[in-house]
Amino acid sequence: MAVSRCQRLSGALVQELLATVDTVLFDCDGVIWRGDQAIPGAPEVINALKSHDKRVFFVTNNSTKTRAMYAEKLGRLGFQASEEEVFGTAYCSAVYLKRTAKLDGKVYLIGGNALSQELQRVGIQHVGSGPDPVTGSQNDWANVPLDPDVKAVLVGFDEHFSYMKLARALRYLDDPRCLFIGTNTDTRLPLEGGRAVPGTGCLVRAVETVAHRKAQIIGKPNHFMFDCLASEYGIQPSRTLMVGDRLDTDILLGSNCGLKTLLTLTGVSQLEEALEHLESGSEARLCLVPDYYVDTIGDLLPALQG
Ligand code: PLP
Ligand code: CA
Repeated sequence: MAVSRCQRLSGALVQELLATVDTVLFDCDGVIWRGDQAIPGAPEVINALKSHDKRVFFVTNNSTKTRAMYAEKLGRLGFQASEEEVFGTAYCSAVYLKRTAKLDGKVYLIGGNALSQELQRVGIQHVGSGPDPVTGSQNDWANVPLDPDVKAVLVGFDEHFSYMKLARALRYLDDPRCLFIGTNTDTRLPLEGGRAVPGTGCLVRAVETVAHRKAQIIGKPNHFMFDCLASEYGIQPSRTLMVGDRLDTDILLGSNCGLKTLLTLTGVSQLEEALEHLESGSEARLCLVPDYYVDTIGDLLPALQG
């Protein structure tokens, strides 16, 4: 099927597209749910895709949940889903350290419970979770004892992020052999009513700034999460559709990995931004332009029920 970019996906085009696709990857927040509420029609769309023998996966940058926690939330909101279908940055960071980096040592974790649990599940020991116990003077910050077994610093979402944690990360990362991993670079987490809170990207950037080093990023738009999924399930990129609400993470991931892309307008990015990239005439900005867009993924339902 010839693709002109940024086409509204509706009517017969939905069936035409689905006939060329075996696997559909869904971003979570802003696509299938917002906060704790399913996007209307999203559970029905995903369940119908599965009954049409499409493979479905959930690909999220949010490091605050384990695979098991996502499976529980998906089930609670009416989605048919299992842990194995979830590729979040908490799980994928643990997989990266275990399988790709073959880490032999402990992790200094700036992150929450979910990261802690996923590291434990793959048998990687870590230190640092929860509030840092040390407060005090500059002298304390510079001389705080380090764990000699720490061989990697992992930064994810951490509500207890602090000056002391930055000071510790600096000391570990002063050793160039210490690995430096960040879960994702989303700078803001949008809330209802146009408000936002700081995202993990702010914490990763703070550590990068103090360490004078760049973190290896696990989440979208980096292709690691897709590689992780593709290696486990034998996915054919050209027969895979990535559905997301952000041009600079979801759509860029799709472009980076040779997937078809669908922007849904229930989250962060607006259609106008996609059209600006398209109309800029810049080849470099085309990777931020989706193949298709819908107002909401609920718009796919009639074609799946027909
Ligand atoms: N990171 C955190 C901590 C979040 O709470 C969210 C969304 O709720 C995200 C990242 C973005 O997640 P997604 O990739 O599912 O849009
Ligand atoms: Ca999203």
